[in-house]
Amino acid sequence: MDNIVIIGAGLAGATAAHTLRKEGFDGGITLVGAEEHHPYIRPPLSKGFLAGNEDEGSLLPYPVDSYAEKRIDFLPRETAEQLDREAGEVRLASGKTMKYGQLLLATGATPRSLPISGADLPGVHCLRTLEDSKELREALVNNAYEQHDRRVVLVGSGWIGLEVAATARTLGAEVAVLGKDKIPLEGVLGAELGTVFLDRHRKAGVTFHPETSAAGITAANGRASGVVTDSGLELPADLVVIAVGVTPNTELAEAAGLTIQNGILTDQSMRTSDPRIFAAGDVANPFHPVLGEHQRSEHWANAINTGKVAAKAMLGKPAVLNHIPYFYTDQFDLGMEYSGYGPLARDAKVVARGDTSSGEFIAFWVIPVSSDKGRVVAGMNVNIWDVQGPIKALIRQENEVNLQQLADLSVPLDSL
Ligand SMILES: Cc1cc2nc3c(=O)[nH]c(=O)nc-3n(C[C@H](O)[C@H](O)[C@H](O)COP(=O)(O)OP(=O)(O)OC[C@H]3O[C@@H](n4cnc5c(N)ncnc54)[C@H](O)[C@@H]3O)c2cc1C
Repeated sequence: MDNIVIIGAGLAGATAAHTLRKEGFDGGITLVGAEEHHPYIRPPLSKGFLAGNEDEGSLLPYPVDSYAEKRIDFLPRETAEQLDREAGEVRLASGKTMKYGQLLLATGATPRSLPISGADLPGVHCLRTLEDSKELREALVNNAYEQHDRRVVLVGSGWIGLEVAATARTLGAEVAVLGKDKIPLEGVLGAELGTVFLDRHRKAGVTFHPETSAAGITAANGRASGVVTDSGLELPADLVVIAVGVTPNTELAEAAGLTIQNGILTDQSMRTSDPRIFAAGDVANPFHPVLGEHQRSEHWANAINTGKVAAKAMLGKPAVLNHIPYFYTDQFDLGMEYSGYGPLARDAKVVARGDTSSGEFIAFWVIPVSSDKGRVVAGMNVNIWDVQGPIKALIRQENEVNLQQLADLSVPLDSL
């Protein structure tokens, strides 16, 4: 049957739908989304949108009209509840049943909750959807809560926790962050570069509680009033934001018997264990040919890349996910882009180009091959722009580079 059904109207699903048309597919495309909105991007929800500097329109990756123009049948407020692979059918919560020729699962991920007392009190937030961000913004920007000093406690010191901390602090709130790591972002960036972000937050007045978890949330007047830590501290809070990672939304795929392993397992063309079914975005765990292993990624660029690869592969075109993973963050005046292979960077040496304490530098992760040469596996630019091209080229070329030259600001990156 010449029709494609896409479950999940986030960035991955929307990208796949538009790519199918761009690649000349003329059959039916149905895009099923549980949310009421046209597909939107999430990064601003913890940054510019949360701060009140960006409006809803700026969140759209494709204009609202483009769905009708491209003959993409968009079904908002519809949740796929059951997948019958033998019949090639999806059943929606509304009772509607849809036949598919091929299916794409782009169901994204859900914030993890914390099994602690008080986690469901008013004043306790998580952040994934536009509504979540609006609620938080209402509290932070418009002082929606009465009797507050706007004390915010962030549980979780990953990307989203730190971004919300930065936004809340910029808006004038008193902010404390609890994190399991000794240094935030240490797992991804290593201690030295994690400290760059830690120092920036501290400079802005954010308080950090490293190697600390939340043990419970206290209540006063029917809403959250503080966080009790596992070290016995009691931190007063008017707002608590829980940002302790996400879980991929695999229920539909799992119940249908697809192979699940840290997400929906796919090959390098985003095909699942059922050849008629593909997966993309946060929910997919694709095989990456460069790494030689599966790697699930929870980033904006991955949603776009995997959406495109899945769409092309569905049309029988050659398509392989061989992109260098990329992500970015903005915290206070630190804007950062990172490209590279995280699993390889874990054992690599960091080579800084510029002073890391200056707030403007590039850092490379290099696998040394001799005392003065190495292979670049990742690179991050902080407040230096338009260098992602040369950074990616260095990672892609797999040649050995001279480490002294790599660190030398006077040697152009594209000459290495
Ligand atoms: C606050 C925030 C800030 C972020 N900042 C950055 C950043 O700075 N840089 C970066 O690289 N990445 C960032 N990300 C990550 C990035 O937004 C995600 O990787 C991206 O949204 C994943 O897109 P997706 O389409 O796979 O999933 P999602 O965006 O989660 O979309 C999936 C959609 O599927 C729907 N759905 C689920 N199940 C069903 C079903 N059964 N039936 C119908 N619909 C269903 C969901 O409701 C959802 O709308 C951020 C994420 C958040 C939440």
